[in-house]
Amino acid sequence: MNPNHVTIVGGGITGLSAAWYVQQEAARRRVDITYTLLEQSDRWGGKILTETVAGYGARPFIIEAGPDSFLSQKPWAAQLARELGIADQFLPTNDGRRQTFILHNSRPTPLPDGVMLIAPTKIKPFLQSRLISPWGKLRMGLDWFIPPKTDDDDETLAQFIQRRLGQEALDKIAEPLLSGIYNADAELQSIMATFPRFRAMEKEHGSLIKAMLAAKKSRAQASPNGDAPGMFTSFKPGMEELTQALREQLTGDCRLGIKAERLEIRDWRLTGDLQSPIYQLHLSDGSTLLTNTIILAVPSFISASLLADIAPQAAETLRQIRYVSTGTVSLAYKRDEIDHPLNGFGIVIPRSERRRINAVTWSSTKFEHRAPEGFALLRVFFGGSRTPEMMDVADDALLPIAQAELQQMMGITAVPLFHRIYRWQNSNPQYDVGHLERVAAIEASLPPGIFVTGSPYRGVGIPDCVKQAKDTAVQAVSNWVIA
Ligand SMILES: Cc1cc2nc3c(=O)[nH]c(=O)nc-3n(C[C@H](O)[C@H](O)[C@H](O)COP(=O)(O)OP(=O)(O)OC[C@H]3O[C@@H](n4cnc5c(N)ncnc54)[C@H](O)[C@@H]3O)c2cc1C
Repeated sequence: MNPNHVTIVGGGITGLSAAWYVQQEAARRRVDITYTLLEQSDRWGGKILTETVAGYGARPFIIEAGPDSFLSQKPWAAQLARELGIADQFLPTNDGRRQTFILHNSRPTPLPDGVMLIAPTKIKPFLQSRLISPWGKLRMGLDWFIPPKTDDDDETLAQFIQRRLGQEALDKIAEPLLSGIYNADAELQSIMATFPRFRAMEKEHGSLIKAMLAAKKSRAQASPNGDAPGMFTSFKPGMEELTQALREQLTGDCRLGIKAERLEIRDWRLTGDLQSPIYQLHLSDGSTLLTNTIILAVPSFISASLLADIAPQAAETLRQIRYVSTGTVSLAYKRDEIDHPLNGFGIVIPRSERRRINAVTWSSTKFEHRAPEGFALLRVFFGGSRTPEMMDVADDALLPIAQAELQQMMGITAVPLFHRIYRWQNSNPQYDVGHLERVAAIEASLPPGIFVTGSPYRGVGIPDCVKQAKDTAVQAVSNWVIA
């Protein structure tokens, strides 16, 4: 066994990035480090999955089964893409056509211009909006005067928004937009784990509206022509460009179709004055791997089962991270068969509207290159905390439901040219109140040389996964270099 060997379990964006940063760190430090990357399925990328459908024009449809973009403001995914040499493939959102609609009394209603995340920053469009009642607007305005909470105790997103902006802002904006991102239940969702920035803004400026206005002003000063890059970025050929480029540039031992099944301590090694464990990982092909460093980039319930024997306390806390399941239906149409202007990025649906779907993205407006000329691509989201029962609906019943919802909300009666349904079982970790304390407890109870990283812990977005992978890789390698 090479004492400088790291085993990475899980070939999603986190595992692939961890392997990349182990490789980079080894080169940077000029040390001989080897690694093995294990992925149980027959493809790399995990939830990043792009499908192309040709035959309808000069360009194919590009359909995302999982993420369709990443938040540009968080730099780590873009930085990784630059390191991999694929920055020329960046595809920012079509921000000239940015408009979010919120379903209100069954009708898509524009989110008023100037509402940044949650707080209004332009008075006139906000006052003119039909989305919030006059009393609701007044209540949101009280944010300017309500004293800030000064402690660092966690609370739910619902409690935070009710406290600062009132119930209507929660129902109409925060719940569909902010809980929607996490497929979460606002009544359980931790503000400190999902939107800590709001609490920091409250503390610093005394009010969310004041903080958003200050942010807007400093952005305008930094970019007076308003030429900031798109808020979200994808890649021209689709999100899989990132995971494919990663895989192509990994030079280590990368094994597809191999599942890590069981983990035990095989032996102990003296490192300086300390005894450190040598782990034996049992794999699905019957082979074993001896290793002293393991990065688990898999869902937390998988890490829990792998760690059950050697770290029962960590396993117990890992099991407390809840997951929900989600799915999407992508539908392709001839553009002239849809009367709707598709004049925005799509519709988010508050829980209070009691629909069978959670949101619709107008993919071919949100991005160029997603449908051939003369065609349109839409994506319907279901499941999660909002409509969990939809996960049990069979494919042949799901399609008519998606079509009926599109007809009622957007008047679409055309039959789609084709559709694709993707289901992600136990896919979305839930950052319930107290999440950060749970993660700290997990990290504190891991045995030496074992790391857990990725979407279950410190951010579900792709940039967060890349950052966590990088931090973990650097930490894992530093362990030996110091030893
Ligand atoms: C429908 C959907 C839409 C999303 N949209 C966005 C978006 O627009 N923007 C954004 O930033 N994020 C989005 N996300 C979230 C983001 O996609 C995920 O958080 C991220 O891709 C998770 O990456 P990961 O590598 O941590 O986990 P995963 O992608 O789940 O990868 C884990 C891998 O581990 C493998 N594995 C599991 N067990 C074992 C084992 N025992 N041995 C070996 N391998 C194993 C699995 O097969 C899998 O490939 C979305 C998620 C979903 C489901």
